[in-house]
Amino acid sequence: MDKICIEELKIFAHHGVFEHENTNGQNFYVNAVLYTDTEKAGMLDELSCSVDYSKVCALLERVMTENTYRLIETAAQTAAEAVLREFPAVRAVDMEIRKPEAPIDMEFVSVSVKIHRGWHRAVIALGSNVGDSRRYITDAVEQLCACPQMRNVRCSELIVTKPYGYTNQDDFLNGAVLCETLLSPHGLLEFMQEIEKSAHRTREIHWGPRTLDLDLILYDEDIISDPDLIVPHPDMHNRTFVLKPVAELAPYYRHPVLGMTMMQLLERLEKK
Ligand code: ATP
Ligand code: CA
Ligand code: CA
Repeated sequence: MDKICIEELKIFAHHGVFEHENTNGQNFYVNAVLYTDTEKAGMLDELSCSVDYSKVCALLERVMTENTYRLIETAAQTAAEAVLREFPAVRAVDMEIRKPEAPIDMEFVSVSVKIHRGWHRAVIALGSNVGDSRRYITDAVEQLCACPQMRNVRCSELIVTKPYGYTNQDDFLNGAVLCETLLSPHGLLEFMQEIEKSAHRTREIHWGPRTLDLDLILYDEDIISDPDLIVPHPDMHNRTFVLKPVAELAPYYRHPVLGMTMMQLLERLEKK
């Protein structure tokens, strides 16, 4: 991907753990790399087709001066997310905040925090078979939409399905969401678990009745095998109630392990 680079943007601000830093302020320097496609702008020689770096600099100054953070970690993250939200053509950013006047009683050139943030594609499956299932699911989708780290949240049709695994329970209502997120896979899982908690989700029987279940199905082309998070979801390809809504939203999304698209996986499962 093409890059637009901003180097050593000097901003006087008040971030720091010490009170004198918050009162007196000091110079910070911002280095930002904006990952964006410049082909069209390059062809048409037209600023409106690209990212206006002077506007990005103004935004960076606003974020750095209108807030006082203790940590440059927070300043960097807030600045990165602000750029990604306000400039939709920027897919990802490297953000470095340097603090050459940091209160360190030794000779040094500079300290800095460097982070990478970007938009990621994610698919979440939703299910419910206790209480007002439609309400639980639409509330969950609303909470996903309201999160500042999410955009382009699209929900599939909701379908009624027979219970899977533990069959002695009510039918389920199932659906899926396709979205873009700034959250990491673990950050997104944590957020999904908060949404489940807000629906008073309890865990009694494995695969048993639940007010709301959110599973992370796909995250970019990532393959994750952590104790608390497996992506792609390890059983998704065996579940019509997952593949049907996912194939509706993203028929050509390719399963990074099995190498087949959602549409192909659904067709294969329906033939079985
Ligand atoms: P299944 O995952 O087979 O549909 P379940 O949804 O009933 O079963 P839960 O009780 O909701 O299972 O979740 C158990 C644990 O699964 C969670 O605490 C979570 O850490 C872990 N987990 C692993 N991978 C994922 C994933 N991709 N999405 C959601 N949770 C996951
Ligand atoms: Ca589940
Ligand atoms: Ca789950």
